Amino acid sequence: MNIDVKMIEELVKKVIESVGEEASMQNEDYNYGIFDHMGDAVEAAATAQKKYLNCSMSNRAEYVEVIRNVVLKKENLEFISQMTVEETGMGMYEHKLIKNTLAAKKSPGIEDLTTEAMSGDDGLTIVEYSPFGVIGAIAPTTNPTETIICNSIGMLAAGNAVVFSPHPRAKNVSLALIKLINKGLEEAGAPKNLIVTVREPSIENTTLMMENPKVRMLVATGGPAIVKTVLSSGKKAIGAGAGNPPVVVDETADIEKAADDIVKGCSFDNNLPCIAEKEILAVDSIADYLIFNMKKFGAYEVKDQTLIKQLEELVINEKGGPKTSFVGKSAPYILSKLGIEVGSEIKVILMETSVAHPFVQTELMMPILPLVRVKDVDEAIDLAIEVEHGNRHTAMMHSKNVDKLTKMAKLIQTTIFVKNGPSYAGIGVGGEGHTTFTIAGPTGEGLTSAKSFARKRKCVLVGGLDVR
Ligand code: NAD
Repeated sequence: MNIDVKMIEELVKKVIESVGEEASMQNEDYNYGIFDHMGDAVEAAATAQKKYLNCSMSNRAEYVEVIRNVVLKKENLEFISQMTVEETGMGMYEHKLIKNTLAAKKSPGIEDLTTEAMSGDDGLTIVEYSPFGVIGAIAPTTNPTETIICNSIGMLAAGNAVVFSPHPRAKNVSLALIKLINKGLEEAGAPKNLIVTVREPSIENTTLMMENPKVRMLVATGGPAIVKTVLSSGKKAIGAGAGNPPVVVDETADIEKAADDIVKGCSFDNNLPCIAEKEILAVDSIADYLIFNMKKFGAYEVKDQTLIKQLEELVINEKGGPKTSFVGKSAPYILSKLGIEVGSEIKVILMETSVAHPFVQTELMMPILPLVRVKDVDEAIDLAIEVEHGNRHTAMMHSKNVDKLTKMAKLIQTTIFVKNGPSYAGIGVGGEGHTTFTIAGPTGEGLTSAKSFARKRKCVLVGGLDVR
């Protein structure tokens, strides 16, 4: 009898592997991608990624679809949205539903990975997007689940496995979502542990993740400290950092619409999105009418200077940053702490300030919106550039003057520039284009998608397949 020893060895190896997997699935400690130690999490992701290399592009497309479906399943969507609000104490349930739905539906999948081809007398060359391997992804507390959703879709579409470092204050919901996604992926036949994390996310664990040589790429979505850390890591890194988006309104704008858009954008998820309107630069001749209209759409104007001072002391900490206990809180909640009771129709707290005021200069991430009055649109543009602090993140402008729109867009150099719409139009809500909750200003990938998480590789076939 002719026995192929190599083939038998391969078969035995496969059986042992699958028995091992079965056993670990039955082990009650088996927890769908959640590990006690960061080293084990990275190891598991590396093993998963190796297996993932053998999956086809249609497999990848199927797994991306699984992630979308897991998130969009009504009970999961409601569960993660509710749990985020409860655990972080930030944002609004109804808006979390919208943000999670958006991330699940509009984060691009494998279609983003387009191949370039060059053919000629010397043959055919293709340039393809290929995985980095294991990616370490750090998520913020402001969009914890949204970031996991869009990063998982993009990173898996590009053929990677992911080790997440969720924010410790969003630990439970992040772990719950990672388990749900892993369960769905495994049921669809994907390799186990394509998405992993640790039971106790912490700065120490994030550091261990970043230092692990098996993690080939880092993606930080968060404030300046973590972006700086990943950019100093010596690894390929994407930094999606802080913003302080200004909105300019000039005398040519549709003021009623501008007022409505600004209130809607600023109050979306209680101002948590890094793209949300944080301060207004309004031309003097229309400033009063803008304020009048904003009040119609749900702004509560504070004029009393003593109250503005009290509000400043209430929400700004001794280091000059926002107090965490007020980040993502609603306008009625914040006002109630000043003894002012208003209903849920109030979305935004509005006041006139100087450009030097901390409400203008600081990224508060709460629905407090200062308005700075300026003599003309050129001054508004200059100040908008100044208060954006070179973050190159997001800016808005309401104007019908094409020259001035072009001037601001060119000079401010933000990753997102929304003309005549609310900020969220920039991430695909009522504006064209895909979504992401990892907007990479500092490192230039822009609105990240699968191709941001892939390496370009060139394959050259010499002397063939040019069929012209
Ligand atoms: P954060 O910087 O406090 O935390 C972000 C993540 O980094 C968390 O997981 C945290 O645990 C981790 N982290 C922070 N410092 C670290 C350190 N020294 N070592 C290891 N890990 C560290 O930010 P946040 O409060 O969760 O989120 C809000 C900030 O993120 C805002 O500045 C906002 O503009 C920004 N943000 C940017 C984007 C974007 O796409 N550009 C998206 C969302 C949030």
